[in-house]
Order: sequence, then structure tokens, then C-alpha cells
Amino acid sequence: MKMMKVASLLMVLLAMLSCGNNNETNKEKEEKAVEAPPKPKPGTPIKFDSSKRYIYLTWDDSPQPPGTVVCRDIFRKEGVKATFFAVGMHAFDMRRRKLAEEIRESYPEFLLANHSYSHGFNNQYKKFYTQPDSAVKDFQRAEAELKIPVKIIRLPGNNSWVLDGEMKGPKSTEGVYKKLGELGYNVIGWDVEWGFKGGNTPIQGAQEMVKIVNEKFEDALTVAPNAIVILAHDRMFAKPQYQDSLTRFITLLKADPKNVFETIDHYPLINYPKDKDTTATKKAK
Ligand SMILES: [Zn+2]
Repeated sequence: MKMMKVASLLMVLLAMLSCGNNNETNKEKEEKAVEAPPKPKPGTPIKFDSSKRYIYLTWDDSPQPPGTVVCRDIFRKEGVKATFFAVGMHAFDMRRRKLAEEIRESYPEFLLANHSYSHGFNNQYKKFYTQPDSAVKDFQRAEAELKIPVKIIRLPGNNSWVLDGEMKGPKSTEGVYKKLGELGYNVIGWDVEWGFKGGNTPIQGAQEMVKIVNEKFEDALTVAPNAIVILAHDRMFAKPQYQDSLTRFITLLKADPKNVFETIDHYPLINYPKDKDTTATKKAK
């Protein structure tokens, strides 16, 4: 008898406890829903302000620590958006995979985009660009393994472009970029490169780079008006003196209120995949 009383008391207590917990969980859930607005999806068009100059920092060959980590931290500290064009085979261990994943999940701050799986068959560009089917498969492998959220590609070693209705680049890469265009990919080249020598040493200083950027804007020499795509490589900024140079470059650009930093999915000429609504409208017609 006593045992039964204890047991029923325990059951009542348990029920009360779980009730309380449930209520709290629901309340917490509601609070969370209010606090966190839905995350923006990569590849959604933005509205452009014609009084602004749009700057696209597009850094290649990630994940390549320590350079990638350094650049990510500088961009974050300076509060600027940037795009990392990643190479599938560079994510060869857990640490590098996590780094690529972290960048992918940092959108809208950072965008993870596609720079092929094998970096053009280990820099054998001639072979890579004369085998369009294999090259396209290589990009698709990177897309699948790194879960790249956008159809935006940079060709290894070549300044080629596929944008809304327009294609251009060296003749040698034509077979590959045309095929990518047919499959609905955008290919992004660059307006300005922050060059390097000896594998990873920046050639220009920060002030020189800012001068080049300003001149390109002033002379209207960019592919899209009021927009500039800047190419650099993560590994160039691993050493402290070059970290300072990158910070200085960004600080100088930020000092001009016309300058806005955006990820490359917000480049003016990007061809956005047609969503389901568009298809439905087309079918209705
Ligand atoms: Zn590269």
C-alpha cells in the first residue's frame, strides 16, 4: 500500500515536472523564433544603389590555412563581405573541411563559390580545357563535396566570364565555359588582380592597390559599371606584414562612403536560376 502511494506521488511529480518543461520549451521556441529572422539564401538578387560603387573581394584556392583563416578574420573584423572560391581537393582533412563549411554557413557575410575540384587537373590547364566534359564533372564534384550553394564558378588560371547572356574569355577555355553556360552556371573572372610572386608574396602594396581600384572605377574600365571584381589568394596574407597590408587596403576602401562590399552572388550581371514561381507563370501562359 505504502509503495503504491509513493509510486503514484512520484508519477504526479513527474507529470508536473514534464509539464513545466514542456511549457518552458515552447516559450523558448517562441522567443527563438522572434529573435532570429530567417537566414537569407545565397543567390537572391539585391537592389542596387546607382550612387554606390560595389566591391567584390573574391579570394581563390581555399581552404588554405593559415591564409584562409587570417583573411576570414580580417574581413570579419573589418565588417566586409567577401567570396571564397574554394577548391574541392584542398578540403582533404577534417580541419580544412570544417573551415570550408564554416565559410559556407557564414552567409550573408561570406559566400563559398566553386573553383573546381582538382584546380584544373593540378594546374594542367591545357589538358583541363581541352576536355570540357571532364572539366565540367570536376566542377560538379567540387559543388557536391563542398555543398556549394550557388552556380558560380571561377575557372582555374583563366579570366573568363559567363554572365546573363554574355560569354568571354581566352579561346583556349571556350569549350569549358560554353558548356558551363549551357548548364546554367555563371563564370566570374576579375577586373583587378592583387598579384603574387614566389607562390604567395603579394606584389603590390595596399595603397597601390587602392589606386588601381579607383582608376578602374574612374575610367569605367570594369566589366559591369559601378562594380569591381578583385582577385587575390588567401595564402598571400598568412604573414603578419601582409595581414597589415590587407587590413590597410580594406580600411582605405572603407573610408570612401561610396564603396559597398558585397558577395559575388550580388554581382549586377549574375544570371539567377529561375525559381518555381517563374516556371509556374510560364506554364500558365
Ligand atoms: Zn586558383
